[in-house]
Amino acid sequence: MSAGGLQIERLQEHLKTLKLPRTAEDLPTLVQRASKKELSYTDFLEEVTTRELETKRERLTAMKTTMARFPFQKTLESFDFTFQPSLDQKVIRELAKGRFIDDADNVLLLGPPGVGKTHLAVALGMKACAQGCRTLFMTASAMLTQLTRFHNENRLEEKLKQLTQPKLLIIDEIGYLPLEPLAANLFFQLVSRRYERGSILITSNQSLSGWGDVFGDQVIATAILDRLLHHSTILNIKGESYRLKEKRKAGLLTRSEPYTQAAEVPGKAS
Ligand code: ADP
Ligand code: MG
Repeated sequence: MSAGGLQIERLQEHLKTLKLPRTAEDLPTLVQRASKKELSYTDFLEEVTTRELETKRERLTAMKTTMARFPFQKTLESFDFTFQPSLDQKVIRELAKGRFIDDADNVLLLGPPGVGKTHLAVALGMKACAQGCRTLFMTASAMLTQLTRFHNENRLEEKLKQLTQPKLLIIDEIGYLPLEPLAANLFFQLVSRRYERGSILITSNQSLSGWGDVFGDQVIATAILDRLLHHSTILNIKGESYRLKEKRKAGLLTRSEPYTQAAEVPGKAS
């Protein structure tokens, strides 16, 4: 082997020890290309470090995304804003920048089933992960089951601590079922614990005025809302279900079905 080849091998060992595997692997190509293009030392070093930083960032994003336990992966890019005109795209784009997480502000995504609340919650969560933010996604029912279990085992504190760690906590589907008094109380404790410390993003099919019924108690609902809303963005999605639109397109819905809206059925006389 040539002296140059041996040196490349030595460098590759150094790079591996320094935990720069991508550069180690590509070094022969990188060096060859640099000498062909007659890159300056600084240009070469910049190229190498930029690639390595990209790799690190990708790996961090992948790790945060796994830790977030999303039920599926959905992106803002795949969200059709034209279908949901009541939703201000600018507000979503601003949220995607993640400043609300730095400020420990909350987000409430409200609207009827199928309008894309969970899609948007996951998409914003994925943006947070891409910014290196520790994120956790849970359905409200899974979260309350866990809180109740830990409470019954006298380990509530442990669970509350754990749920305070992610910088962004996404709680999906509050309001589908009314809560037992204990669950409402535990939810209040969680919200209080995270108040001004970490962001909560909540989705709900109930308007805020319906939260008294959800929590079975107006006083506790008010106390929860008071903390949630103090620093928050509320998005009310008023549109039609995307699921139904897809079904209708496929011809699976007929005019007589209850969700069908007169204005949207082609050819229906009004
Ligand atoms: P919700 O949580 O409000 O009940 P989902 O977020 O689960 O609604 O949306 C239902 C399905 O429709 C999902 O597969 C979602 O990806 C899709 N969807 C909803 N709204 C849109 C949209 N505006 N553009 C693209 N896909 C959408
Ligand atoms: Mg949903």
